Amino acid sequence: MRRPPIEPLLEIEKLSTHFDTADGLVRAVDDVSLRIEPGRTVCIVGESGCGKSVTARSILRLVDPPGRIVAGSIRFRSGDGVVDLAALDPGGPELRRIRGKEIGMVFQEPMAALSPVHTIGQQLIEVLRLHEQLGKAEARERAIAELRGVGIPQPERRIDAYSFQLSGGMRQRAMIAMALACRPQLLVADEPTTALDVTTQAQILRLLRTLQEERGMAILFITHDLGVVAELADRVAVMYLGNVVEECDVDSLFHDLRHPYTRALLRSVPRIERRARRRLPTIRGQVPHPQQRPSGCPYRTRCDHVVPGQCDAENPALVSDGLREVRCVHYPTAESIRDGHDLRPEEVVADAG
Ligand code: SF4
Repeated sequence: MRRPPIEPLLEIEKLSTHFDTADGLVRAVDDVSLRIEPGRTVCIVGESGCGKSVTARSILRLVDPPGRIVAGSIRFRSGDGVVDLAALDPGGPELRRIRGKEIGMVFQEPMAALSPVHTIGQQLIEVLRLHEQLGKAEARERAIAELRGVGIPQPERRIDAYSFQLSGGMRQRAMIAMALACRPQLLVADEPTTALDVTTQAQILRLLRTLQEERGMAILFITHDLGVVAELADRVAVMYLGNVVEECDVDSLFHDLRHPYTRALLRSVPRIERRARRRLPTIRGQVPHPQQRPSGCPYRTRCDHVVPGQCDAENPALVSDGLREVRCVHYPTAESIRDGHDLRPEEVVADAG
């Protein structure tokens, strides 16, 4: 049943972030539209180089030159109004206020994000004093409470530790404490569990889910891992070479998907029930170098369902049936998406190994 529309917290429309390099133009993010409702989780999934991290960094306006937003808007509900983050000065006071206070961020490698010459407490206290105007003693008390809130044992002691004195899991918890200290409405998390072992990864995902339930924040989670998507997502955007190729709710992704790339991604996930010793199918070929993006549909060099004369002519538009969006010549209308046009069997999927 269709839910009544909810005002989005974040609405990205036709966002393009390009890198004009000496070797040519890289369209890292191209015509991407996405929306996140309050309290919900959207996962962006895709192979490396698909543009998912650049999308996250574009929202936060943390794209380094020569990258720049060349088109589109990023409308974020801030206070009583809506601001277009794409139109703000990346180094200006309004964006600095929004980043940290209203939008928190966690990255894959906390060692790169945390200062090695300041203790965890000094960094957390600085965030709290900057955004919440707390006095020193009050900020320290809050910092200890925040560390406790993310499951760091003995926070009264750990607050004076340096990042290199903590384990990978503890560092990521400290990073989450810092990102969420000011109770942001949105957390942008870019592969925050990728560098962690499986047990710690599961603990961090559980922590994020618990904090989300307690605080009602929305999460934009960037990952290449469909297991993480299954754990966390309400909605999923699948990206390939800078484009969103399919956007749908998480159940549809796993049980009623459409786009050939999404199908291939799902086929390449190991499943316990698959016959032992059977080789896992992989997506044939490699993701093309971004400077050698194929004409037409960028997935056509790896796709098993190419329609000659169409797929190489132009990149299909993203078509919506009101519940999901798909970018493929096999789904040119809302009806074709709803009907779930059955693609012919895949005969050219290469085996791994
Ligand atoms: S548009 Fe063509 S090449 Fe692209 S995914 Fe669809 S069938 Fe494959």
